[in-house]
Amino acid sequence: MNKKIRVGILGATGMVGQRFIQLLDGHPQFEVTALAASERSESRSFQEACAWKLTNPMPDWVKTMPLQACQTPLDCDVVFSSLPSSMAGEVEAAFAQAGYPVISNSSNHRMSVDVPLLVPEINAEHLKLIDVQRERRNQKGYIVTNPNCTTVALVLALAPIQEAFGIEAVIVSTMQALSGAGYPGVASLDIIDNVIPYIDGEEPKVESEPRKILGLFADGAVTPADFRVSAQCHRVNVSDGHTEAVTIKLKKKATIADLIEVMENFQGEPQKLNLYSAPNRPVIVMKEHNRPQPRLDRDLEKGMATVVGRVREDNIFDFRFTVLGHNTVRGAAGAAILNAELLVAKGYI
Ligand code: NAP
Repeated sequence: MNKKIRVGILGATGMVGQRFIQLLDGHPQFEVTALAASERSESRSFQEACAWKLTNPMPDWVKTMPLQACQTPLDCDVVFSSLPSSMAGEVEAAFAQAGYPVISNSSNHRMSVDVPLLVPEINAEHLKLIDVQRERRNQKGYIVTNPNCTTVALVLALAPIQEAFGIEAVIVSTMQALSGAGYPGVASLDIIDNVIPYIDGEEPKVESEPRKILGLFADGAVTPADFRVSAQCHRVNVSDGHTEAVTIKLKKKATIADLIEVMENFQGEPQKLNLYSAPNRPVIVMKEHNRPQPRLDRDLEKGMATVVGRVREDNIFDFRFTVLGHNTVRGAAGAAILNAELLVAKGYI
């Protein structure tokens, strides 16, 4: 029997860290062997240090594992990072320099020219940036990132449309879940009976990341896609699942049926390679007039799909629709694990 790949989690006690533990519980390829968090948690057991917020119980194997500092060396072959951006940049670079593959959720390195911003269904080709990165930085380790939680749900819906018809412009207004702000996150008195029309740093990420993800890799670099994105981001009183109201202008003519067909038929490398965490349907299009809804639909395909609904014509642009994505699964830990599975399949781990 093949030995499992040993995994370390940086930021293991956080909202995303907990999802990593849940999704890696019983994973056929990966085994968690190291956990790290802040000084506050260091030397405590996971059970003592972590305010577990998931509805599934904390797995037994993790309860007594000790928390370590976010420093090399850690007893693992690969590092998943879900650290706050205030320190993720330096810590992740240090792990990569020390030879570890670093699979990151944080925003720090996403837009670096030699770092893949990976959505395996869309741009598996961008993994070639790893060779560029290793050579430029003269190191064996590397950093691969997954997009912002709002971006990933959006680009999975946009990718098949871009491929078939070309996109000219996108306007998106988001309604983002509380778990996206980490724990303890937004104070209850700020969000009960309320909507907050500001999420620090979010709009520029949603406006820039899709262009890199849908960009073309050639001659060692990614040329960003040429469409424009305008985003307005709101925090709403939902536990998990970001909802997005999207309006798009296309380069070529299409019908509503065309749009639904390309989204429903969308498949990529994870589906071809039958990766363990790959959703069978990366994009699900719901036909009911009042769906998708976060509480009802965020767990479709175990939280790994983008759920689209209300595809219809628009009075100003060409089409509009609603997008829903699970922000801590496909928007964070699940995305990073799928990235790692692709890295294994392609021989990078
Ligand atoms: P979180 O709940 O606040 O968790 C932060 C984690 O980082 C905790 O494990 C915390 O450990 C650790 N940490 C904090 N300060 C540290 C320090 N100085 N040194 C070492 N470790 C430290 O945040 P989160 O929501 O999981 O988000 C983590 C990262 O993922 C962020 O960069 C975020 O932007 C990104 N992300 C989040 C989501 C989402 O939906 N939540 C989606 C995509 C990306 P202690 O418990 O010891 O404090």
